[in-house]
Amino acid sequence: MREKDDDTLNIIEYIIPMLSRESSDTADESACTRSPEQAQYEYAAKLKMFIDELPGGFLIYHADGDESIIYVNAALLEIFGCATLDAFKSMTGNSFRGMVHPDDLDEVEQSIKEQIKASQNDLDYVEYRIVRKDGETRWVEDYGHFVHSDAVGDIFYVFITDATEKINRRISEKTALINAKHEKEKKLLNLIETYDKERMLIHQEHLRRLEVIEGLSVNYDSILYADLDADRVLAYRLSMRTEKQFERKLQARDLGWFLDDYVKVWVHPEDRERVAELTSPDCIRQKLKNNPTYYINYRCVYKGEIQYIQLRLVNVGSKEHVSQIVMGYRNVDVEILQEMKQKQVLQEALENAKLADIAKSTFLSNMSHDMRTPLNAIFGFTALARKNPGDGKAVVKYLNKIETAGKQILDLIEKVLEYSYTESQDFKLNNVDCDITEIIKGVSNYIAPNAATKRISVTTDTDGITHKTVCVDAEKLGQILMHIAGNAVKYTDGGGSVRITAREKAKPNSDFSTYIFEIADTGIGISEQFKRHIFDPFEREKNTTFSGEFGTGLGLTIAKHTAEMMGGDITVESEVGKGSVFTVTMLLKRRNAAPARSAKSADDAIDLHGKKVLLVEDSEINLEIETEMLQDIGLVVDCAENGQLAVDAVKASAPGEYSFILMDIQMPVMDGRTAAREIRKLDDPAHADIPIIALSANAFESDKRMSMEVGMDAHLTKPIDIPLLVKTVKRTLKKHAKK
Ligand code: ADP
Repeated sequence: MREKDDDTLNIIEYIIPMLSRESSDTADESACTRSPEQAQYEYAAKLKMFIDELPGGFLIYHADGDESIIYVNAALLEIFGCATLDAFKSMTGNSFRGMVHPDDLDEVEQSIKEQIKASQNDLDYVEYRIVRKDGETRWVEDYGHFVHSDAVGDIFYVFITDATEKINRRISEKTALINAKHEKEKKLLNLIETYDKERMLIHQEHLRRLEVIEGLSVNYDSILYADLDADRVLAYRLSMRTEKQFERKLQARDLGWFLDDYVKVWVHPEDRERVAELTSPDCIRQKLKNNPTYYINYRCVYKGEIQYIQLRLVNVGSKEHVSQIVMGYRNVDVEILQEMKQKQVLQEALENAKLADIAKSTFLSNMSHDMRTPLNAIFGFTALARKNPGDGKAVVKYLNKIETAGKQILDLIEKVLEYSYTESQDFKLNNVDCDITEIIKGVSNYIAPNAATKRISVTTDTDGITHKTVCVDAEKLGQILMHIAGNAVKYTDGGGSVRITAREKAKPNSDFSTYIFEIADTGIGISEQFKRHIFDPFEREKNTTFSGEFGTGLGLTIAKHTAEMMGGDITVESEVGKGSVFTVTMLLKRRNAAPARSAKSADDAIDLHGKKVLLVEDSEINLEIETEMLQDIGLVVDCAENGQLAVDAVKASAPGEYSFILMDIQMPVMDGRTAAREIRKLDDPAHADIPIIALSANAFESDKRMSMEVGMDAHLTKPIDIPLLVKTVKRTLKKHAKK
């Protein structure tokens, strides 16, 4: 702390005692003496007067100790709201500390200390609150000056002004400023928050878009972004192929270079020129000007194998000026192959449809031809017979010819039905245990009459069979062999021979054997060219007119299809003019036990003579023919013209009166099936259980099935085949007798 100059000190030293005094009578004292000290004293007295009258507050107090107050002027008392010095003293304890608001005191003293220390002139300035006598809190400004004097010690003399309004204004300004700042900060924070939220939303949207792009582009194994103007291409996803063009980690290349190199390295030589042209910047610009996207399909060669690739180009920039594009490469092997396959399937379907159409036309023309020929014979010979009624021998000859022609038509119809059956869903195998040698015998018997007529020798050889009992659909196997053996006789000239051989190749360690049936003839043979079509429907090497043999071209088709359905096959070897060998091969399950003996003898024991049949038939002609035929085999015939009359007749009959019913299917009033159902529902079992055999022109397998479903015992087709009818009736009667 600096020492004060002498003058100042002197004045202070003079004034302080003066100021400490309560009243001011100094002027009188000074008048007595006029020494220099006196002069100074006078000056001090004037100064005191001046200080007393100062408009602002003034005080002097000890800087040390209890900071007791030495002097306060009137203005200061006023600031504190004290009417007297005593009031001030008692309020403040006559100490500077008592003047300052307790909350501000420490800070004020600390500030004063620091300021004095730092000030060259020992000056300080502080603001603090005071509490006036009336309790009001006011703000004051305090300009202090620290002075050291030997006479009075360390003191502060201080100017105090009431600055409440000023400071309050300042405080409120500051508060307003702070509030404004806070407001601003709040706004800023809100802005930042909004911005953050928006940024987050944009980020999420961006991610979603990326996910959408990623999802949509999942099929693309390479995705590149290119700028045509800048001649740059950036990689976003690289496949095995495009990776070669982009060295690892290097994600950007010159576009021109990339496209050139890609075409050279990967594209199939035949597609290079097209791909190069369609990916040239000029072409890209032109194509994308009109459309946002286009694609090119081409082939790539990868490890020597062809892959189908699709490159899709999309304009992602301006429409007017195409420059920014995205290129996606994907492998379309599966799609292309599927497309090719589909095309092939469609082509095949078309060809099949065409073939089916041709087959249909061929079928109709064949049917028309093959039916017209025998019909022609029927009409022709009928006319001849009518012309020569008296010539009995000639009439018999004509009738025989008419019968043959009728049989031919029947054969044609049966073959067509059989063919349609083998192709239908109804086709079923009825495997039972049977004797192979019996089947061969049956085939031999079947061809024997025709062979005898043509003087063709028929031999059979079953020595190669070690297991003759097998599980097979004997009827179908027999039909296959009959078709082939029938042809052998048909296409062999008189005096020739037919040989039927059956042998077996047992499969080791199993119950199965391969059975081989060979039917060899010494007939006309088959040309190499025709052999290729021999199993196709309606195919004949020569038609009836040229071969002189009636045929349909369906027999072998049926045989082959049936054999295949039974897990077997038919092959043919032949030489024109020498003969043919047809071989049927089939894997069959062997059985050890002999098949049940044929019940032929038991059937034969049934005598139909005198038995009464109810013939239900609406057609007058059929009724007449059938009645006659049935009467010929000894049956007594009762007739009903429709199903309803048949039901009524049964109801009215005595139990056991009718041995069986022959029931037509399509009839007016009530059809045959409904009638059968009604009969089966009758109360009297003697009526309800009468054997019923359908006799119908409906010859499909499904017709037979439906007849059985309504409770009939058998289904026979028209025209009536008397031996078959007898056999069926006997078998049915036997079955009913057992019940
Ligand atoms: P279809 O005998 O009724 O004409 P198939 O389907 O049984 O019909 O035979 C088709 C054709 O195969 C016959 O028309 C005939 O040209 C030829 N064919 C069949 N078997 C023989 C055979 N054993 N010898 C010579 N040709 C045959």
